[in-house]
This record gives sequence, structure tokens and C-alpha cells, in this order.
Amino acid sequence: MAAATQLIPSDAQILAELKSTFGFTSFRPLQEEIVRTILRGQDVFALLPTGGGKSLCYQLPALLLPGLTVVVSPLISLMKDQVDKLEAMGVSATYVNSSLEPAEVSRRVSALVRGEMKLAYVAPERLMLDGFLRLLATVQPSLFAIDEAHCISEWGHDFRPEYRYLQRLRALFPSTPLSAFTATATARVQADIVAQLGLRRAATFRGSFDRPNLFYDVRPKRDTYDQLVEYLRANRSASGIVYCQARSTTERLAERLQADGFSAAAYHAGLESDVRRRCQDAFIRDDVQVIVATVAFGMGIDKPDVRFVVHYDLPKNLEGFYQESGRAGRDGEPSDCILFYSAGDAVKYEHFIRQKESEADRSVARQQLRQMTQWAESVTCRRQALLAYFDESFGPSSAGTDEGPTTKDEVDSSSSAAADECCDVCRTPVEEQDWTIPAQMYLSCVKRTGERFGSAYVIDVLRGSRGERILRNGHDKVSTYGIGRDRPKEDWQHLARELLRRDHVRQDADDYNTLKVTDRGYAVLFKGERVMLRRALAPARPATATAAAGGAQQFHQDLFERLRDLRRRLADERGVPPYVVFHDAALRQMAAELPAHEQHFRRIQGVGERKLADFGDPFLAAIAEYVAETGAQPVAPVAGSQVPVAGTTSREKSRRGLPPTVKESLDLFHSGQTVAEIARTRQLAISTIEGHLATAMEAGEPLALDRLVVPEKQRAIEAAFAVVGAGPLRPLIDHLGEAYTYAEIRFVRAAVGWARLPSP
Ligand code: ADP
Ligand code: MG
Repeated sequence: MAAATQLIPSDAQILAELKSTFGFTSFRPLQEEIVRTILRGQDVFALLPTGGGKSLCYQLPALLLPGLTVVVSPLISLMKDQVDKLEAMGVSATYVNSSLEPAEVSRRVSALVRGEMKLAYVAPERLMLDGFLRLLATVQPSLFAIDEAHCISEWGHDFRPEYRYLQRLRALFPSTPLSAFTATATARVQADIVAQLGLRRAATFRGSFDRPNLFYDVRPKRDTYDQLVEYLRANRSASGIVYCQARSTTERLAERLQADGFSAAAYHAGLESDVRRRCQDAFIRDDVQVIVATVAFGMGIDKPDVRFVVHYDLPKNLEGFYQESGRAGRDGEPSDCILFYSAGDAVKYEHFIRQKESEADRSVARQQLRQMTQWAESVTCRRQALLAYFDESFGPSSAGTDEGPTTKDEVDSSSSAAADECCDVCRTPVEEQDWTIPAQMYLSCVKRTGERFGSAYVIDVLRGSRGERILRNGHDKVSTYGIGRDRPKEDWQHLARELLRRDHVRQDADDYNTLKVTDRGYAVLFKGERVMLRRALAPARPATATAAAGGAQQFHQDLFERLRDLRRRLADERGVPPYVVFHDAALRQMAAELPAHEQHFRRIQGVGERKLADFGDPFLAAIAEYVAETGAQPVAPVAGSQVPVAGTTSREKSRRGLPPTVKESLDLFHSGQTVAEIARTRQLAISTIEGHLATAMEAGEPLALDRLVVPEKQRAIEAAFAVVGAGPLRPLIDHLGEAYTYAEIRFVRAAVGWARLPSP
């Protein structure tokens, strides 16, 4: 039964289904074209990045086509997750795999045969059993969707032999359209997928590998643990993954984080399978905030709200880095990808590479490592560098099949214009400077003083210090004494760190960490190797919490947290992960717009008809309660229901974005009135006025903290931040006791936040 004989749904019908079931008002790039092509009955090959929204590309057609769509997916955990999500949207869907008892399988299969299901997720080995195929032949599915299609290719990174059975599918169901989806496929793998599945005149769609909501941040691997902790403190409610190279590191790090009060768990392939499963479940249910894992973690989860991925150690190649970091921010919300980099890590791998068997393997591994380190050391935009790399690797396939992908239908959504701040380099522009001569001075001074000292001493000699130790050692007589006087000490320290990082000198652990000049150092001294250093042109901003900022959109943080609690409760009752109920973005939009009735609630992203019916009441009630308590004003829904993402913290800008009622309180405060006076003037509760002022402060409005919170309380609150973190307010109140109010904590939190920003 070819879909072409059916009436093809109109664009209006497609959009109506998108909103009423999925709750979305617009498509992500290429989704619409893919959906239409599938509905026309054509085969499809789609290469879209992680988080590109591939599921919707076949789920939406499945709902508009008559009968059943069969989805092939490699991982049991993913099938269940997808079916949970579909059921929460009111779609009849099921899955069949080896995790089910035989009786349950036959129950589900009968439901399929009776035509009660729109979608069935099936493991490939199950699909291709003779009995199952016979059943399907009676049902005649309208569409086969092969997810993670690269699993069929031996050339791919995740070959699964059971996918090979799918080769027979085309012959068995010649008139049922096939579509294949993947996020990773080199030209060779693409051609292989098309050939193995027997795709015919497939329309090929290739999305950009750009992930505009990801912020790439490469940081020096120094005080790494402290940097991580600082980041986690600033992102208390965000979940994320910390990738480490060694299993032992994951366990040690997870324990240390636990001891420091974080909710963390270790994951690696050496753990028992049920330990691993529990760990995954805890993560997707937000019972555990941070998973410290080897690369074994991640394939089996589709958690949309992973807010950060940290690479504690250097990945072996850029593909791995892109895949792993790409697990952040599938929901399109701002998320961080942090890499702790030291040249020392690369040197360590060199050791492993040397142990590889063949020269060919060694040379491939070396080249990949070089690409990785070049990326980490580069002074150009990291996102553009990644894109340039992947557009090359995953670019147009030259190897076609007999019929090949039709060029007519080949659509390439080329990379969108880069947002202005997408990585540490863009945030802190750098300039390369030639530091070869000072580097030679420094290295030569290390030699002249006998390679027996650390950098502080060497710098003192260079700067001509009359320190007692220097004079005693006679180092005021060496030729490098005082030649670096005209450079500030900070410059020398910067250079010293860089030379160490780049392996021009090393610290000898067996000799009191004294400095020794390395071969690379000699190359600078004698072979003309140049030393180019990055110089920050603008002061770097502190480790901002992109993830916690939630796109810097303004919303009522307290309400957002209440809604999260509510979501959590509802999800637990249903035995599903919280994101199945609503995404963070939906909660944030609710906490920004404060919808008061169903009409408005329906316009929130991710609210379809079923979720409106199931969850509308409790969420509207929670919002109404908050509005009654605080006097907060609802905001009109934004056209297209897209939540505007306000720029960051220009004060003018933030002030303009404040609701009028907040501005009114703010003006009175600036005119010198106390909170109590404003409350009287405006005939509002004191807590309402406090709420207004806290909102204003959080938006970047500078208010005199001493007028709002007495100094002793300020100190107590700051101390509480150090203990329980400056995240959710409830734990803080629990810690501080009744004498403190939410508003007081918010005031201090906002004030502390500013202190960490550089002065404009
Ligand atoms: P992929 O399989 O390509 O990695 P998913 O299908 O898991 O991506 O989708 C990633 C996330 O994006 C999901 O949480 C999904 O709900 C969301 N999403 C997909 N399409 C849209 C859309 N058109 N508008 C908003 N969110 C979307
Ligand atoms: Mg997917």
C-alpha cells in the first residue's frame, strides 16, 4: 500500500498536528521538508545533528499516515523513553524487544494486529523474525523508519550486526517507503546505509552540524577540581555529564563531589549492568545531578535537558568530543561544553599511541590527536572550527548507489550565522603576539641558574631582584640577570605558565618540581621555533553559568522552582522522567508569562492537547497561587509563542524588560522610600514589593543591598551559599531558618552575582 495513493495532508493539517500533539508551533531546520517528503511516499535519508529533532521527522508522518509506522531503534532504553514521551502526548505507541516477557510481547503484538497502534518501536532482530514478519505482512505498515541508521554500516563507529537483517526489508515490503536517520555518517557510511537498506531515489537531507545553543569553553587544566566545583555551585539545578578517561578517575571524582555535597554518581563499563541501569535512570529522573563517566555513558539516553558536558580529560579525537559534548542541550536551550585542556594530556596519549600495533594505526591516532589539540589551542571561534571540520568529514557524499540520491531533492541547510558569543574565544577576543624573545630569555635563565629552581625564582633573576637568595647564589652575575626588568612581573608569570603548558619546560617531580628545559624548549633557544601567545584583549568574564541563566530570559525564578517540583511529583506518579511531562523551556515560559487560563496555557511551547488536559489544571493552579502571593503580573503571550531570549546583562536593556509594576516599585525605591513605605504607597504587601525589587536586582538593576538586608544577615546568607549553594531557595531557607525571607536571600544572591562581574 503506497502512501502515494493516499491523500497527502495539506500544510495546514501538518501544522495543526504539530501543535495539537507535540505542542510546537514551528519546525526545526529541515523537519518540515522531511515530513512532507515522507508523506509523499518517497524514501528519505536524513543526516541531522544530535538534538536536531529526528524523532519528530517520522513521528509526525506516522500520525498523519493511515495505519502503522514501524520504527527500528538499537537501544532498549531509548525505545521505552520514546514510547513514554509519545504516550504522554496521547499517541498510541508501543515497543517490542527482548526486555519483555513473552506474554507481554504477544499482548503488544495483538494490539498491533488489531490496528490499535500508530507507532511500534521494534528491535531489528525481533522485527526480522519470521513470525513477526508474517504478522507485519498482514498489517502492511505505512512506513519503516530506521533510527541510528549508521548502526548498519561496518564503517561506522557503532556497527550492530543485527542491523544487517534489515537488508531484507525492502524486498519483503517493496511498496512501503523507508526512511533512515542518523547523526553521524561519513560519506562512506552514508553510501553504505543507502545501499544496505536498498533506498530508492531517496531524498537526501543533510543538516548543519552547527549547534547554536552550545557554548564551547576550553579552560586550562589547572585547579581543575576547584573550577568544576565553582561551576557546579553556580549551576545547582542543572544536570550534566563529566567525562573522564579512566574508570578509576570517575569513581574518585564522583566520591569527592559527593563528599562536597553534590549529587553525583560514577558510571563506566566495568560496573554491573544493573548498577549502570540504576545510574542512568537516576540521571534521567533528575535524582542524580551529575554523572561522572567514561565514554561508555550516553548512547542509551535521550535526556533533552543535559545542561553541561565537561571533559575532564582530553578526548582522543574531535569526533568523540563533538559526539559527547553534543549530548548537551538537545532541547535547544543554552548549554555548556567545557574542556579542561593541558598539553600534558596530549603527551600522555602519545605514550598510548606508541603502544599501538601497526604504523597505520599509530599515524591515524596521531593525526586525530593533533586535530584535537589544534582545536583546543586555536585562537579562532571554536564553533566555526568544529563546523569547518565536520562539513569536510560529513560533507556531500560522492559515492552514490545505482540510483543515487537525487540532487534535485538534496537539501543542505547550511550553517546559520554564528551567534555573537558561542565560545570562550568569542567571549574574550584574543590576539596572537610573538613572545619568542622573552621566551628565549626565560629558557636561557632556567639553564643559567642550573635548572635548580621554580618559575618564581627565575622571574626574580630576570627582573634583577636583589633578593638575599639570589645574591647568595651569585645569580646576579649570570648574563640573564636583570634583562627582563622592563616587563611587568605578570607578563613573565603568564609566559612561564604557557611555556610549561606547551611543554617547553617541564617540572621535575623527582627533583622538587624544579624546571628543566625540554627538547621543545631547545628548539626555541636554538632552532628558531617561535612562541606565539594569546593575549586577552578584554577582561575575561567570570565563569558565567550559561546553563543556569536559561538564556538570560526573564522569569520568576521562585515560580520556576515550584513548577519543577510539581513536574517532578507528576512525573513520579506516572513513573516517567520529568522531561516527559514538560521541558524546562516550557516551565520557564510559564514562569515568565504567568498564564492564567487555558487559552494562554495552550500557547506554551510543548503544550499539546493531551498535556493541556492532563497537566493544565495543576500547573495553572500553581501559577495562580504564586500570582496571588506575590502580585506578579502576567505577561501577554508572545507572538508565535516563541519565548524571546533577551540579551545578557546590559542594565538599560534589563530595565526595559521589567514589568511595569516592578518598575514602579523600583522608581519609588530609588526616590528613597523604604520597602514598607512603598508597600503603603502602593497598597501592596511588603512581600510583593520585596519580590519586585528582587526581580529587578536579578535583572541587573543595582540596588543598595544595605537598605534591604541588614549586614549580619547578609553575612549569614553568604555563608549559607557556601554550604548549600546559591541555587534553589528552599534548601537555603531550610538551612537559615524562619527568620530569613526568600526575598532577602534573592537580594544577597543577586548582589553577590554582580560582585563577580567586571565593572563595565
Ligand atoms: P535527535 O534524535 O535528532 O537527537 P530528538 O528527536 O531527540 O533529536 O529531539 C531533540 C529534542 O528537540 C526533543 O526534546 C524534542 O522534543 C525537541 N524538538 C524536536 N522538534 C522540535 C520542534 N520543532 N520544536 C521544538 N522542539 C523540538
Ligand atoms: Mg534520536
